Amino acid sequence: MSAPTLFIVIPCYNEEEVLPITAPMFLNKLLSLVHEGKIADASRIMFVNDGSRDRTWEIISELSRSDEHYIGISQSRNRGHQNAVLAGLMEARGKCDITISVDCDGQDDINAMGKMVDAYADGCDVVYGVRSSRETDTFFKRSTAQGFYKFLSLMGAEVVYNHADYRLISARALDALSEFHEVNLFLRGMVPLVGFKSTSVEYSRSERIAGESKYPLKKMIALAVDGITSLSVKPLRMIMSFGLTVALISFIGVIWAIVAAICGDTVAGWASTTCIVCFVGGVQLICMGIIGEYVGKIYMETKARPRYIISAKTWEDGSK
Ligand code: UDP
Ligand code: MG
Repeated sequence: MSAPTLFIVIPCYNEEEVLPITAPMFLNKLLSLVHEGKIADASRIMFVNDGSRDRTWEIISELSRSDEHYIGISQSRNRGHQNAVLAGLMEARGKCDITISVDCDGQDDINAMGKMVDAYADGCDVVYGVRSSRETDTFFKRSTAQGFYKFLSLMGAEVVYNHADYRLISARALDALSEFHEVNLFLRGMVPLVGFKSTSVEYSRSERIAGESKYPLKKMIALAVDGITSLSVKPLRMIMSFGLTVALISFIGVIWAIVAAICGDTVAGWASTTCIVCFVGGVQLICMGIIGEYVGKIYMETKARPRYIISAKTWEDGSK
């Protein structure tokens, strides 16, 4: 079997500080894998500019002129990390045998790529990069991220623990993934649904080489909500069981009230009535909010808007 062609897909959003440092690291890794005979020389490093407002796209264009292994596409506007990765994967589809998606900030250890390609050679279609340590993350980032995985699994959304979006996907798994047409993307939940033989490769996560995180808490919460609502209907079931419990308690309360009235033992209970009304009102609003979240998702899905729009490429179509 000849060496497979690898496309490394790298989303970049306002990364002018970090790209000039990490791009040569990716290239060195790619070339050393080529020399080891693990991948073909037609392999490429594909940057996906996610509507950056700084010089990121100019840097990507310069890189692509400096070495043929660098190529890039640009999204017409910022659509977020998940859409950027998907855009890259879908563009790479049909051009290669395997893809590896990785962040551009040097946090994901590129040396794990060799092991990923080995696992592919052993017959795996999906190889998850799993973080073995988070020591370099801040305490806040570490605990929120761990809470994120725990919360997801509690809500019925199964994901690979401590796996972000550093993973290898084979061409046929990518073809299968392209059949998932959802607009609300949560790739780390979707890829396990694709199936095929998979394995994990451990790597240690280091600090961002330069620049700052583009994933503030707000975006992490949005990602968690997207993950839960796109993978599971467990929250809906939970409010159903909660509703049943409240209904049961109310029923007992009603019987108690009737018995008390018959016995003539009715004392005006303003405080208890107010508490119950407020409590049930609050719970109902939360439940409506959860249902609303799902209705909103259905609304967005029925529009079936394009998941990404590419405004520029560093190559002419048909030439690569
Ligand atoms: N990213 C992106 N679009 C966005 C936000 C982030 O393409 O709207 C990219 C970013 O350039 C990086 C990756 O997604 O390559 C992960 O982002 P970051 O390193 O900021 O997240 P963190 O590692 O702090 O979770
Ligand atoms: Mg990062």
